Amino acid sequence: MAVLSVEGLTTNYKTLRGWVRAAEDISFEVEQGEAMGLAGESGCGKSTVALSLLKILPPGGKIRKGKILLSGQDLVPLSEKEMRKIRWKGISIVFQGAMNALNPVFKVGDQIAEAIKTHEPKVADSEVRERVAKLLETVGIEPSRANNYPHEFSGGMRQRALIAMALAADPSVVVADEPGTALDVIVQAQILRLLRDLKDRLGLSMILISHDLSIIAETCEKVAIMYAGRIVEYGDAVTIFKDPKHPYTQGLIKAFPSIKGEKVRLTSIPGSPPDLLNPPAGCRFNPRCPFVMDVCKRVEPILEEHGDKGHTVSCHLYH
Ligand code: SF4
Repeated sequence: MAVLSVEGLTTNYKTLRGWVRAAEDISFEVEQGEAMGLAGESGCGKSTVALSLLKILPPGGKIRKGKILLSGQDLVPLSEKEMRKIRWKGISIVFQGAMNALNPVFKVGDQIAEAIKTHEPKVADSEVRERVAKLLETVGIEPSRANNYPHEFSGGMRQRALIAMALAADPSVVVADEPGTALDVIVQAQILRLLRDLKDRLGLSMILISHDLSIIAETCEKVAIMYAGRIVEYGDAVTIFKDPKHPYTQGLIKAFPSIKGEKVRLTSIPGSPPDLLNPPAGCRFNPRCPFVMDVCKRVEPILEEHGDKGHTVSCHLYH
């Protein structure tokens, strides 16, 4: 059984001008020990999906439809008090801005200890200290640094500390939202390598959010490509990376350089993502699509199977 199964999740933001349709009809599954990538340009709704999973949406955000089944339990109807028991232990998150996510006035070790004590209040202080030291070691930080404050850590170390915190209560699923984005590319690569290694070593079930599909293909078994609040392509990560079907996925791949492949001119996707207060009729990608047809402006394509390994695409070119 899937450890996490999201079915028809629809999350909108209420504004004075109406509902911003940030994520609509999102469905995917994460099996035990599997990593799933969520990819797309900024503003496509991938972080909204992440925040919905933990039910930590900013003011105005509301889950309007769908189910989030964590080991069979639907999180959508749960109260804030019930969700506090699920966060860290059921689903935990590694945020992208490590300095903002850590409290600057508490020692790093104490903040990791807090995540353990919230779920296991009866554990002795000495055992908590031991577990914090082990967690820091797991993410490649010298355990004695538990006594440091966040400002005494480098950006990469802070991101590692956040990963340690996300692992503290032994969660069923870890969500990593653009980990290392604010760091330089070398440290970013180290953080991604650490996540990959932890996933293999600890058998983590993980959701990795990134705008870079090549990072996802290296780390994840599955990928969901999001555009303008909807999943437009879903399936095996390597298959989609090598043979993308949706014109948006094709554009996304061409927009990133390949280190190993031959040198080619990078092409950006013309235009910009639509206003989600009032998305285009039919296919939301139609104003930017090089293959647009009449039907695309009238009829919204649905995700349908194309090829094998559960590969699904929502595009009129294939159906
Ligand atoms: Fe392009 Fe039409 Fe496919 Fe949308 S449905 S991606 S507009 S071809």
